[in-house]
Amino acid sequence: MQPRDLSAHAVYAAGRGSEEVARELGLDPERIVKLSSNENPFGPSPAAVEAIREAAGSIHTYPKSVHTDLVARIADRWDVTSPQVWLANGGDGALDYLSRAFLDPGDGVLVSEPGFAYYAMTARYHHGEVRTYALEKSDGFAQTPETVLDSYDGERIVYLTSPHNPTGTEADLAAIERIADETGEDTLVVVDEAYGEFSETPSALALVEGREGWDARDDVAVLRTFSKAYGLAGIRLGYALVPDEWAEAYTRVNTPFAASSLACRAGLAALDDREHVERTTETVEWSREYMHAELDAHTYPSAGNFVLVDVEDASAVAEAAKREGVVVRDCSSFGLPECVRVTCGTRESTERAVSVLNEVTG
Ligand SMILES: *Cc1c(COP(=O)(O)O)cnc(C)c1O
Repeated sequence: MQPRDLSAHAVYAAGRGSEEVARELGLDPERIVKLSSNENPFGPSPAAVEAIREAAGSIHTYPKSVHTDLVARIADRWDVTSPQVWLANGGDGALDYLSRAFLDPGDGVLVSEPGFAYYAMTARYHHGEVRTYALEKSDGFAQTPETVLDSYDGERIVYLTSPHNPTGTEADLAAIERIADETGEDTLVVVDEAYGEFSETPSALALVEGREGWDARDDVAVLRTFSKAYGLAGIRLGYALVPDEWAEAYTRVNTPFAASSLACRAGLAALDDREHVERTTETVEWSREYMHAELDAHTYPSAGNFVLVDVEDASAVAEAAKREGVVVRDCSSFGLPECVRVTCGTRESTERAVSVLNEVTG
């Protein structure tokens, strides 16, 4: 017996963990500077860690009220109703819910190339077809309405990533509005703001809700996650913010108890720990500037917690840096074999990464 034809399905290539790299190199994991997965270099919010400890004794019960509480808290944070918050097992889980709610077999989705791998993966899991629009290196990977609309051919979902992973570019709200206006009535524009906390650009939720002078609309949804600025990548917690018009579809597509009770408790605590997020975003700003100024190689402006760097041979540079205990992301799997992506670290780890990268590219 065999599963269905999965030959079009790509296997997700995650960055490797510090333990794996340390074991391979025979180094102390503590000495590895891991800047390959856009994780929070300060770790999780201490308040979230404490909340998880406290909740450990009650994980024999299903997460009923805590799920409701977190959704209400997120709804309050964004000034939307609870049904508009599609809580999920990571931002990736929220992408699955959008696929479940929108894709009929054979429907197309349009994704950026280079771009985040999971959009295409979730589309294929849900029997959808994947088409791409190109962000051009020669344009600095600019996200203009034309880059998307020139490739648009009636797809059901168009994915925008702002700030964009791995390039760091943004789509401004006027561009997003034009894309939503000029795509078909049945096309949903998903704006993935996994890195939104690191950017000055207001959330595209303003378009959904008709705030700040924009007209309200029902064809844009926003994705957010606790994995990056909140430092909770391991607990798997994220959500989509969707228009009121079709928000109740969540109840028909979500996996029961979409987020674990530990995740929900951690999320609630992390949302209240403003200090941890501020420290994180301030350090990211510093680290980005430091990399732009101090790396000998060409860097691209970034609104995320990472910087894309031009190198001759990404695989060789990532390998050489790793031997020095600095793990960066070889962007070959993104279709950029001449770029590495470096996550913003603490001051100490950023300085170390810059010095090692200058050494191995020099
Ligand atoms: C990290 C990331 C996500 C969400 O990741 P989760 O850990 O599943 O929340 C979504 N989109 C992009 C572009 C990302 O880089």
